[in-house]
Amino acid sequence: MPDSTLDPQPVYRIRVAVPVYLYDCFDYMLSAAQYQQAEVGARVLVSFGRQNLVGIIVEKLALDTPIDPRFKLKAISELLDEQAILDPKVLTLLTWSAQYYQFPIGEVMQSALPSLLRQAKPYNLLARTWKLLDAHAETKITRSEKQQEAYKILKLHPSGTSENILNLAGIETATLKALANKEICACVLEAQDFSPMPVTLAQMPLTPNPDQKKAIDSVLKVRQQYKAFLLDGLTGSGKTEVYLHIMHEVLKQGKQVLVLVPEIGLTPQTISRFQSRFHCHIALLHSGLNDSKRLQAWQAAQTGKASIILGTRSAIYTPLPNLGLIILDEEHDLSFKQQEGFRYHARDVALYRAHLENCPVILGSATPSIDSYALVDQGKMQCLELNQRAGTALMPKIHLIDLKIAKKQHGISQQLIDEIKKRLAKKEQVLVFLNRRGYAPVLICESCAWQAKCPNCDANFTLHHQPYTHLHCHHCGTIHRKPEQCPACNHAELKPIGMGTAKVEDSLNELFPNVDVIRVDRDSTSRVGSWQKIYDRIQRSEPLILLGTQMLAKGHHFPYVTLVAILDIDSGLLSVDIRAPERTAQLIVQVAGRAGRGEHKGDVYLQSVRPDHPLLTTLVEGDYRKFAKQSLKERKAAQLPPYRYSALIRCESKSQELNQQFLQQHAQWLREHSEQLIEIWGPIPAPMERKAGRFHAHMVLLSKDRARLHFYIRNWWQNMLHEKPSSMKLSLDIDPQEFS
Ligand code: ADP
Ligand code: ZN
Ligand code: ZN
Repeated sequence: MPDSTLDPQPVYRIRVAVPVYLYDCFDYMLSAAQYQQAEVGARVLVSFGRQNLVGIIVEKLALDTPIDPRFKLKAISELLDEQAILDPKVLTLLTWSAQYYQFPIGEVMQSALPSLLRQAKPYNLLARTWKLLDAHAETKITRSEKQQEAYKILKLHPSGTSENILNLAGIETATLKALANKEICACVLEAQDFSPMPVTLAQMPLTPNPDQKKAIDSVLKVRQQYKAFLLDGLTGSGKTEVYLHIMHEVLKQGKQVLVLVPEIGLTPQTISRFQSRFHCHIALLHSGLNDSKRLQAWQAAQTGKASIILGTRSAIYTPLPNLGLIILDEEHDLSFKQQEGFRYHARDVALYRAHLENCPVILGSATPSIDSYALVDQGKMQCLELNQRAGTALMPKIHLIDLKIAKKQHGISQQLIDEIKKRLAKKEQVLVFLNRRGYAPVLICESCAWQAKCPNCDANFTLHHQPYTHLHCHHCGTIHRKPEQCPACNHAELKPIGMGTAKVEDSLNELFPNVDVIRVDRDSTSRVGSWQKIYDRIQRSEPLILLGTQMLAKGHHFPYVTLVAILDIDSGLLSVDIRAPERTAQLIVQVAGRAGRGEHKGDVYLQSVRPDHPLLTTLVEGDYRKFAKQSLKERKAAQLPPYRYSALIRCESKSQELNQQFLQQHAQWLREHSEQLIEIWGPIPAPMERKAGRFHAHMVLLSKDRARLHFYIRNWWQNMLHEKPSSMKLSLDIDPQEFS
């Protein structure tokens, strides 16, 4: 036996981020030749526990790095990429994100990869085509059923079949390779062209108005360095036109532009706006793509072939070799914040990425977040205002209707009904907004006050009549039959209280029998293509009533809508969430922005039982900016986020006592060990304490010192995860956006 102390063999090692819920990276051995070939940012197949997992190489260890004796050093299974697929800047961004959001690094790295590369598929998967070489190979094939199956399929397609499709049909690459070894078939690589095409204008830009010109010049002045801008302009004030002007200059220099939009904002209209302005390769990255389309788009971005990358939240982690500008449109939108697992905020990551890449970043919105206004206030971001509506369109006026004293039919005030009639008579269109789907949110017994409640949640059932009459819990999905009579007192009748879009649809049909009512909500537009049909009708000048939820509030252009009715916004005025007023104001302004985008002036009617609420009066007398200024002052005075940094611990288990006791104990420890730098709120029951049969509790940590807050949370949090009972679920939300 050789004496290893006399003749030490060098142990070549790499450090790998493995996709498991653990905070460390892990070291693996490899041969000298593999070590030579291995690149930081490339994928590697490693065994972990009993699984084979795809990890990312984050470091090639120097030979004199001490070996941790606690772990048995295993060899890698296979190097999957000849070259790095994540560049050093993206790796830095991902490492920073894992640290900042305190989420396991291996899991975070996965967010940067399209799903086919998360599996052990080859990078050039889409270029790989398999062709049969020998069509009379029956005798060469053993009894292997897999090989026989593969052979049969290859024989059906003499011109060859892509490896991706064969894989999807259940033919494994290993089987194809086995056949190739017997010279029955071969893999042919199609040429993949990753060279970018020169960018030219496909359409003449509009001449910018003075506000637009100022905004464009401010950004172009700092083209080669980091600077953050807030483009603050109402819907229709020409923000997109500003983006297009700036993009053109950046694209002309051969740089790439990353444009992020909300989940719901990546409509065919948005896409065609970019496509019709520029001749260039545009990569679309959103959740609706199938795996191979996504890989294709990702590779176009990652190789530099695509000049414009248009995507939703997760596109922020796409590797881009020539990034020259980041645009994040509708920056206030909640969909930029991932609400589960790795809870990053694409807006904050975008700011850090622009900083790393030394390029400008533009956040745009008609209703900027208070967080962004705070950054402007602190001098960390420059505000660019657009104050005119582009073209001839005018801003709509908001009118408040006091629901307490108004005469009404079906919950709609007479004044509003009359106004709607007037618009329809002029062949104009009306948008009715109610953010509640279903028929009625409450079903009650008038005799004993029994209410239909979800047995698993602290919530009422919503009554639905479509596609059949039933009770539906919008929080956990439980469905019950509607009882014939009161289950408590046998009273014969149960009464629906309040209104959802389905009920309003009935009421509007009754009130305006000669006009079509088109309802747009999750229940009515689930069929593919139905939204496009609706959209086509809206673009025609004919009287109609559009009725809908959130889905109608964003981004769409309704040229013939001159009246917007907001039926009920009161729940937003009552919520205890510190960001509820901000969201309510944004929703009102966004919905209001749907009116009068064409030649016609718009009006907004808002019904409320609290028309004297300061939020509403501020919006009516002033505008969103006045509201934001006011909120900023209040948050500063109360030292609420963003004037203090925050983290939210969510805890979920079978028992509220267990939650309380566990959180209490850890809160106590943190209080004693954090130099009084951290204020702790709670533990308190979550706003909805019982959901889907489980109990939820919250604990909020606040501090003026972000670095210390994160420092103290780190070990404390990992320790908590370690000590929690296995039936308990815990999550940590850094810079939480919602307290639910
Ligand atoms: P936003 O993105 O702020 O909603 P858009 O850029 O979509 O605004 O502009 C709204 C409308 O005004 C569009 O139809 C656009 O073509 C038009 N528009 C924008 N800028 C100008 C301009 N400088 N001159 C004329 N029309 C403009
Ligand atoms: Zn009853
Ligand atoms: Zn429920």
